Parts: sequence; C-alpha cells; structure tokens
Amino acid sequence: MRQTFKVIICLSIFFLLIPALCIAGQYRVTRVVDGDTIVVNYHGKYEKVRLLCVNTPESVHRDKKQNVPMGKVASEYTKHRLNGKYVDLEFEGKQRGYYGRLLAYVFVDSVNFNVELVRQGLSPYYTKYGLSRKYDQEFREAERHAKKNGLNIWGDPDLAKKYLRLKSKWGQKKSSITTVPITIPVQAQSCVYVGSRNSHKFHRPDCRYVKKISPGNRICFDFREEAINMGYTPCKVCKP
Ligand SMILES: [Zn+2]
Repeated sequence: MRQTFKVIICLSIFFLLIPALCIAGQYRVTRVVDGDTIVVNYHGKYEKVRLLCVNTPESVHRDKKQNVPMGKVASEYTKHRLNGKYVDLEFEGKQRGYYGRLLAYVFVDSVNFNVELVRQGLSPYYTKYGLSRKYDQEFREAERHAKKNGLNIWGDPDLAKKYLRLKSKWGQKKSSITTVPITIPVQAQSCVYVGSRNSHKFHRPDCRYVKKISPGNRICFDFREEAINMGYTPCKVCKP
C-alpha cells in the first residue's frame, strides 16, 4: 500500500514538472534596452532582439527630443515582464534586420509578448514593414481592445493622433510597396536581388530589365523571401 502511494507521488511530481519545463523558454533576457528591444543570451552570445510588429514610444533615443514619458512607461513594463526571464523566440521571414539585430516574436510563459504590448496600448500594431503573417488577427484584436479602453497611447490625445497619422501612412495592404525603407540611389550590382518602386517584379542584378530601372527607383533585397514578403514576384526572364 505504502509502495503504491510512493509511486503515485513520484508520478504526480513527474507530470507536474513536464508542463513547467515546457512553458519555460530557452533564452535568458539579460537586459531590457527599451519597450521593444531586449538583449538575450542566444546560444551563448548576447544578442539584441527587436520585437516584430511593435514600435513603442522612444525612451533611450539618441535624439532626446524623441523621448517621451510614454516611452519610459513601455520600457518599465517590458523590464517588469521580461528582465531575467527565460523566453522563446519565433522568427518570421528573415531572422535579422538591417542593423544585424534578431527580429522576433518573444514568448514569455507561452504568451506572445509582442501582442501583449499592443493589447496594453504601449505600442500600435506596427505594419510599416508589412503585416504579421502569423499573428495579424491577434494584433488587430489587441489593438481594438487597447483603443476601445483608451489604454496608454490611446488614452493620450496627442500620442493617439500621432500614431493614427503614422498608421494611415503605413497602410494595411499586404502588397504595399509604398513603405520601402531605402531611398538612396542603389547600385544594382551591390544587391542580391533588385526590385523597382514602380513594379511588383524582382530580378537578379545582372538581368537586362534591371538596367531599365533608374537607380533612384531601385530597391535592394538581401533575401528572396524579403522581396516576396513585400509583394514582389520573380521576373520570368532572369528567374531569381
Ligand atoms: Zn529579371
């Protein structure tokens, strides 16, 4: 009888431990830079992670005029939720951004923290570089909730106005090419793939059609997927 009891206790501990181990993420957050940027120990290296589809108000911007009290609120919130915690990262499209930072959704205790920031009204659903492919509906629903309840950004008339104006510029269409980040003339040969601001095709840099795109209208893509994410389709001639 006592033996059976012991077995039951052991089994209970075992099955209680399994979910606990599954929930804890694998990467430790070693520092919170601001509301939407953290540092994690990523496979033994300290790496900056920029959270996807969010953009919290600034708190540590080099241009001090950009820093607003709401930025501090967002930063404190992220610190409180993530600092020292073990999180999981989920990537979408390319893993790194222009500055070499990891771009990811951050999961803490199985919660999508990017969506949580939007739900708290600490960030708009940031679609400047495209919609979320995996969590578009979650982000939209979270933003509706935050707006309806006037949370943080949405409770501050000036900030709310600013973000509504920005959001109208970002646009909501998946194939939008009006939000291309590079505006300097582009040398086609320095690109892995080349697109035009005026069409939806992308090419290899040596394609004859690239010569017809004026340098000011060229767009560089580092990855095929990056072009496709922005609504571009492969050229039928050079087959990139
Ligand atoms: Zn081509």
